[in-house]
Amino acid sequence: MKPFSFLFLLHVLLTFGCKNSTVNKTEKAFEKSIAITEKKPVVSFTFDDGNTADITNFKFEEWNKMILSHLEKENLKAIFFVTGKNKLDHKGQYLLKSWNDQGHRLANHSFSHFNFNAQNNSAHIFENELIRTDSIITNYSNNIKLFRFPYLKEGQNFAKVDSIRNMLRAHNYFNGYVTIDASDWFIDQRLVQRIKEIGIEKTKINKYKDFYIQHIMERANYYEKLSYEMNGRHINHTLLLHHNLASALFLDDLINEFKQKGWAVVNADTAYQDKIFEQIPKSNFAGESLIWSMAKESGKYDQSLRYPAEDSRYEKGKMNRLGL
Ligand SMILES: [Zn+2]
Repeated sequence: MKPFSFLFLLHVLLTFGCKNSTVNKTEKAFEKSIAITEKKPVVSFTFDDGNTADITNFKFEEWNKMILSHLEKENLKAIFFVTGKNKLDHKGQYLLKSWNDQGHRLANHSFSHFNFNAQNNSAHIFENELIRTDSIITNYSNNIKLFRFPYLKEGQNFAKVDSIRNMLRAHNYFNGYVTIDASDWFIDQRLVQRIKEIGIEKTKINKYKDFYIQHIMERANYYEKLSYEMNGRHINHTLLLHHNLASALFLDDLINEFKQKGWAVVNADTAYQDKIFEQIPKSNFAGESLIWSMAKESGKYDQSLRYPAEDSRYEKGKMNRLGL
């Protein structure tokens, strides 16, 4: 071995040896997560609303448990953005406890699920909405100070967006941004309607499942591609789903589909640590998914961006043609 190459090897060993001895576990875990996110798209799961009704043949406790068991099986923690209105009674309290006990986070989705873009809604009304639900979820150990706007509507003009952002800040809340939005709620609505019409035995549940998975993966790929173009990297996505029968029936297959298609699946509170959630779009481009807002703000996608970003109108025709 030549002297030069030996010295070089010694240098390498010393440098890396020293580094390794000083790197603590947290840094290693961080490096590991960076390594994952550099290579593949990343998704996390969030659920909105919180329904406490029986749905067709399924008792509330039963279909709620189905969602929780899918998450448990995957060892995955979600964030549940709940409305306050139906959480004060016995069933509402049971629902919050069942999610909290399994280690999921409870976040704020207003009390009454008003649309903030409606003329008569103000930051003052929404402050009351936020406080009422905050007082419910703070009774649970896993509460988190994230607020998600009903219908993802953050205000239709500068003044309203600025006033609501100031209000959230005053209460130490952050926007619980969605990066992947979809119409799972509409597929669920059509599925439940069909079961009511013809009964569960005659309903082709698998056809609804196929459509649901195909639709959500299509929207996930759309927002991932758009985000990658703008950011030059795979961000941590937060997918919006709802607490409904479709999640109870299809969530495990959806998680598996993400994994099979090469996505990393992470806990939702980990996902929110991504710096992307500090990039707040300007007030005149607020609302919809964070990726949609960023794309709108860039001015580069005016031809391709649709408004609303997601809606039943885009899926209705496809479902009609498939007899769903
Ligand atoms: Zn909602």
